Amino acid sequence: MAQFGTMAFQQAQSEGAYFTMTRIESLRSTDDGFKGIDANGQEYIAQSAIVATGRTPKILEVPNAHVKGVHFCSICDGPLYRGKSAALAVVGSDNAAAQHALSLSRIAAKVMLICRSDSLQMDAAHINQIEQQHNIDVHLNTEVIGYKGLDLIEGMVVKSQEGTEKEISIDGLFLAIGWRPNTNMLDMQIETTSEGYLKTNEKLMTSFSGLFAAGDVRDTDMWQVLTACADGARAAKYAAEFVKKTNT
Ligand SMILES: Cc1cc2nc3c(=O)[nH]c(=O)nc-3n(C[C@H](O)[C@H](O)[C@H](O)COP(=O)(O)OP(=O)(O)OC[C@H]3O[C@@H](n4cnc5c(N)ncnc54)[C@H](O)[C@@H]3O)c2cc1C
Repeated sequence: MAQFGTMAFQQAQSEGAYFTMTRIESLRSTDDGFKGIDANGQEYIAQSAIVATGRTPKILEVPNAHVKGVHFCSICDGPLYRGKSAALAVVGSDNAAAQHALSLSRIAAKVMLICRSDSLQMDAAHINQIEQQHNIDVHLNTEVIGYKGLDLIEGMVVKSQEGTEKEISIDGLFLAIGWRPNTNMLDMQIETTSEGYLKTNEKLMTSFSGLFAAGDVRDTDMWQVLTACADGARAAKYAAEFVKKTNT
């Protein structure tokens, strides 16, 4: 696989693509395109730009927050617990939390769905499925306030609405408390979803003419490597078409 990546990279270079590794601190529009500025003040000028900066999972700001065994993707990391009679926890209350809990219930011995509010904010169909799944326990009005374990997570400290704290042993924990699309560097008014994902048209162009988006930062329904790669290829094609059209 790495070979294919290297070959694609070299082919692009031989066709004149210029690569640089840097962090763009600001991307803004100019009269004839876009200007990116990195932390060293270096400027990058382009007629079109593709934002492919991904997204960052929200984490719980609790003691031991960076202990291993805290995950964000059950499809990706759930299989790590297959065949281990694991006790897993999912933190969240929406459809994403439901999907994590349901997929993990097929792998783990027990799944605890921990929800801070007094009700689940998910589709009725999900609630129904969860109720029928014998190994999912729903804990409403419950907040995770700490993780236990030195290197690997061994437990979590939860607090009830009444203020009672207790420790529960777990083998792994999945957070479904949201993501932040990485768009801080964009100094432009661009249409986004309520969660901040960049809205795009069928050609992956954002609401800002000439600015495209690809991968996890985009308003999509699947945040996976394959879909991000496909987006990248399509966005590059349409960005190239945009530049060609602009120059004719
Ligand atoms: C723990 C975990 C496990 C996963 N496992 C799987 C899996 O098994 N299979 C699967 O298909 N998917 C998996 N995913 C999802 C997958 O990683 C993403 O869908 C995919 O990487 C998205 O690609 P992307 O290019 O959009 O974003 P990313 O891969 O996040 O890449 C974005 C890049 O942009 C850079 N960047 C951000 N801001 C700036 C800036 N201002 N200037 C310059 N660069 C910037 C970042 O540093 C990063 O390198 C997993 C995700 C997580 C978090």
